[in-house]
Amino acid sequence: MVQDLRLTLEQSKQWLITTHKGPDGDAVGSVVAWAALAQQLNKPYQILFPDQPAAYLLPFLSAYEWSVFDLTLSYEADILFCLDYNAPGRVGEQMSDFVSGFESTKVMLDHHPGPDTFCDLMVSKPHLCSTTQVIYECLEELGWVSYVNLAMAQGIYLGLMTDTGSFRFPSVNAKTHQIAAHLLSLGLEQFKIHEAVYDVNTVSRLQLRGFAIAEKLQLFEAQGIGIITLSKAELERFNYQKGDTEGLVNVILSIANIQVAIFMMETTEGVKFSFRSKGERFVNAFAQKYFGGGGHQYAAGGFWPSDLQSALDRLMLHLKEL
Ligand code: 5GP
Ligand code: MN
Repeated sequence: MVQDLRLTLEQSKQWLITTHKGPDGDAVGSVVAWAALAQQLNKPYQILFPDQPAAYLLPFLSAYEWSVFDLTLSYEADILFCLDYNAPGRVGEQMSDFVSGFESTKVMLDHHPGPDTFCDLMVSKPHLCSTTQVIYECLEELGWVSYVNLAMAQGIYLGLMTDTGSFRFPSVNAKTHQIAAHLLSLGLEQFKIHEAVYDVNTVSRLQLRGFAIAEKLQLFEAQGIGIITLSKAELERFNYQKGDTEGLVNVILSIANIQVAIFMMETTEGVKFSFRSKGERFVNAFAQKYFGGGGHQYAAGGFWPSDLQSALDRLMLHLKEL
């Protein structure tokens, strides 16, 4: 497998690097790491996002050229990388046909359970905390760890940090810390990455959070479940910007004796769900069964293509299964 991958990478001519819709820190970090590899291998590359990353992630991309997928353009490449996703649907409706229909080599590097078999080469490691850890371990297996430079370190650390809640989730293992130690030894200033991600709040974002917690939190204490919903009007009231509600679901989970946290946000297309859990309780199967989504055992997402009330009705109808 590693031999196949090495040969494929060496023989490839033009890279197309993609990640999932609504790119998070691990998605952008993986893209950065892979682009930094392309640079060192002297492979021409293109970075293609299904949609624009949130503003706080853009500084990580400043040294790279990237674009948002455009249905009317054609993209020349002999190899497509699928980073931090494991099914074509995760790049959104617009771009999924392009990914499934890509005729040359497709390579997946990912850590989500239950990968679809749409790629020619799959590096799928669901037991690892982040795709950037998958990438680092893959480079090690290829004997390419010397390619891990400071530029790549920025991306790898970004993914490790954001997908582990700053190195606290059960998915963190000794290796995660060993990788972080290596990145720091390269001169990475890890506090700058924390600041760039966590200390960039706007006042309206904090006020939206305050409002959500003070006015919109519903607790089902006997069941250990907490829910926050935000309607379109409420989001508008606080001048909602992409990324403003990120992490809100984890605030619910931080309440003592809450094991399942659900955040629901109304958009023009429908309601987006974020599920988080801990202990013995898992959320991905529920997200998949009732809201067409999925994800990890402790962190999953879903969608309901209607208004907030009907999404909430559906949730309540099946809540006992959580
Ligand atoms: P978030 O709540 O941060 O949007 O999503 C949490 C996790 O759930 C993501 O890391 C991703 O693995 C997964 N996820 C979110 N939305 C979907 C979806 O629509 N389908 C699948 N399969 N996974 C999702
Ligand atoms: Mn990830």
